[in-house]
Amino acid sequence: MEKVMRRPGDYVIPHEAIPEVMSRITVFPEDKFVCVERTEPMFTTYWASAGELSPFFLAVMKEKKILGARCPKCKMVICPPYMTRCPVCQNDDSSLVSLETGIEMPQVGYMLGTPPITVFANARFARYAPFGRGRVILGESQSALPIQVFTTTGFLKPGIFKAGTKVKIVFRKVRMGFSTDYFAVPLDEVPEKLRDKKGLEETALKWKSMEVGDPQVTDAFKKQFPKALQAVTRFVGAIPKSPRAQRDVANWTRKIQVKTGGGKFGLLLDKQRIKVVRGKVPRPDLVLVVEDPTHLIGWTNGDSLVNLIRIGGAGINNLQDMETVFKLDRLHRSIRRDAEERGKK
Ligand SMILES: [Zn+2]
Repeated sequence: MEKVMRRPGDYVIPHEAIPEVMSRITVFPEDKFVCVERTEPMFTTYWASAGELSPFFLAVMKEKKILGARCPKCKMVICPPYMTRCPVCQNDDSSLVSLETGIEMPQVGYMLGTPPITVFANARFARYAPFGRGRVILGESQSALPIQVFTTTGFLKPGIFKAGTKVKIVFRKVRMGFSTDYFAVPLDEVPEKLRDKKGLEETALKWKSMEVGDPQVTDAFKKQFPKALQAVTRFVGAIPKSPRAQRDVANWTRKIQVKTGGGKFGLLLDKQRIKVVRGKVPRPDLVLVVEDPTHLIGWTNGDSLVNLIRIGGAGINNLQDMETVFKLDRLHRSIRRDAEERGKK
């Protein structure tokens, strides 16, 4: 047995899935018996073997190769190598031909279909979001390799990948034998001199998502800015009156620098409220760029920032912190629902 590889701080059971110490009193409807129930743990992680797919993952980990299988008789190729006998020959003349395994596949291919995009991923995949769930045909393969697809140009938007888009396989710097050890990017985003390179690592590419440009300052935007700032101030000022909105931002602390083409301000999220400050925020945790300040007024009226980022109307400097943007997007509905309930009383 070789040494155990680990990703420190990354847990099989995500933190959010671990319940707090809780108890509740339950009355059974049948006999009205009153019981106390408590949360108790049950440990269920285990070592799951990749079995006969192990050579595929070992080649990814150790050699940055993608393996397929080929029929020695009819030359049919499949990738990934998920079966061991040729289905074509078996259909033709009922001969059971074992596939040759360990065939090295080219690392440029094309999308079989348009990949659906995951923006809200479950806890295990949240750190990859947004990503596309793609299927890629490599070489002469008769089957598609399931693969995550990304763009180096920022937020993954519809239209970047389509059926037939040429893609390049890229490998993670740290590979541990998971299907997330490799992914695909559009071939035209790879510098020409790297397109034929096998075993291309993610660090060889320039990832634009981590830097957001400053918005273009215009007189029209400057004119809109005070109105936008006023709308945002009024909007976040409603949080202390809305229990739902307070829950949305509970246990969350962020210093957010908002930059627009008409001026900048800060949102200080702390203790279940958001304070608006003018101008520059020192050492912000997150920078949100919204070029047109009227989009912020739209947000206070229920428009989604996630959607705005998706269509290119806004950007953030850290795509790993989409969770903060999700929280900001929930506020409008929470505030509205609490206001409606107050109105009924
Ligand atoms: Zn065959």
